[in-house]
Amino acid sequence: MLKTKILVTYGPAISRKTVLREVLKHADTVRINFSHMNEEYWLDAMKSVKACAASLGKEVALLADLPGPKIRIAKLDSPIEVKRGETVKFSSEPRKGCVEVMYRALASESKKGMIIDIGDGNAQFKVVEVKEKEVVCRALNNGVVSSRKGVSIMGATLNLDVPTKRDLELARFAKSNGFDFVAVSYVRSAEEIIKVREMAGDLAVIAKIETTDALRNLDGIVRYSDGIMVARGDLSMQVRLEHLPEAQRRIVNASRLQGKPVIVATQLLTSMLQNPTPTRAEANDIANAIMQGADCLMLSDETIIGKYPVAAVRFLAKSAAVAERFAVHDNHIHPKISSVSKAIAFAAADLADEYKTDCIFVPTRRGATAKTISALRPHTQIIALVSDKRVERSLGIYYGIRAHEIKHYSTMDQMWANVNSVAKKLMMKNYLVVSGSPNLSGNTDTLKYVER
Ligand code: PGA
Ligand code: MN
Repeated sequence: MLKTKILVTYGPAISRKTVLREVLKHADTVRINFSHMNEEYWLDAMKSVKACAASLGKEVALLADLPGPKIRIAKLDSPIEVKRGETVKFSSEPRKGCVEVMYRALASESKKGMIIDIGDGNAQFKVVEVKEKEVVCRALNNGVVSSRKGVSIMGATLNLDVPTKRDLELARFAKSNGFDFVAVSYVRSAEEIIKVREMAGDLAVIAKIETTDALRNLDGIVRYSDGIMVARGDLSMQVRLEHLPEAQRRIVNASRLQGKPVIVATQLLTSMLQNPTPTRAEANDIANAIMQGADCLMLSDETIIGKYPVAAVRFLAKSAAVAERFAVHDNHIHPKISSVSKAIAFAAADLADEYKTDCIFVPTRRGATAKTISALRPHTQIIALVSDKRVERSLGIYYGIRAHEIKHYSTMDQMWANVNSVAKKLMMKNYLVVSGSPNLSGNTDTLKYVER
């Protein structure tokens, strides 16, 4: 059983039924990126993911990714080709001889020497002079600047609202349409996470760490989020690329310390956009993320526009399975014991390692105890026994938990009958059972060791 969770982004490369089916065999969660297309497309995507998952007899969770305040090039009449060394002027208003950027604070946030990136590396510029409402740049490569492309001013603090009004509308849209997770782009503080949570109801809120402000406020953001994403694409526009590994390490550690699941995202298998096999460096990157303690790995362009989406997700699953076998996780990095439930989760993780049990069964209403045990990284698998498909999907980014559906129960006897029949079916010889009273959630109070 694979412990690492796999998240794929929905897009044209996997929209054909036969392809989607192969991809979903390995995916636990699908991201639908609200930065592109519209409500109708997202609902269609959601419907086909649900139908395909059902045909595979599995639950696949859905993550709604909020667009956030992306700075963009204004609408241009035609794309502008630039040559390396050429001078190009950008302005925050329509001006003759300037490319318009839709960002009021363009000139006040740009400083001489900063790099401006357009379309994720499509064209890069160095700022040589800042005038009022105008930024004079030199092109660092041959590239194309086209309509509505995303603009990153590397190292600048963005003077924009997060979440945007649109983000809040979309968070509500995600909630009312049955998504499981909502991800917040360009978040900078815990307060911004709280604002999204107010709209997102009971959806789990994921903070995408992709700004320098978020790195500064990391612990607070982790505290108020249900999960964290190392959003390496935009993050590397804010910290210099040579600092990206250090930032990834910090974000993973900060999440693990508070027992929150962490997703490593972007460019895990970029070479597979064009090639059927990955590079050596990519194989290493995947294994390193797992050794560091990532819960979940995410594919983006690989499954949005890649030529080999199925091969990419298969390689991800295959290499994760190998990496897990030799990864040694520091299970002393763990959340503080603050309740009886947590103390029991701790004891279960310790016992499971000590007695090398086949698994830990967790009959659970909301999945909370199973998630706590996941954060402790016992060597054995955690099997959450659930009777609610929503709860099952909520586990879609947590390391080491698999869900097994059981009949709804209301007495201890029924609960044990369920545990026994699953244990028998899965041929478990020695295992732990972590449980509480059947009709309450959040009252885990019992740990039992069973040997057959
Ligand atoms: P994005 O987020 O793909 O929505 O930009 C991930 C990242 O920035 O790495
Ligand atoms: Mn991003």
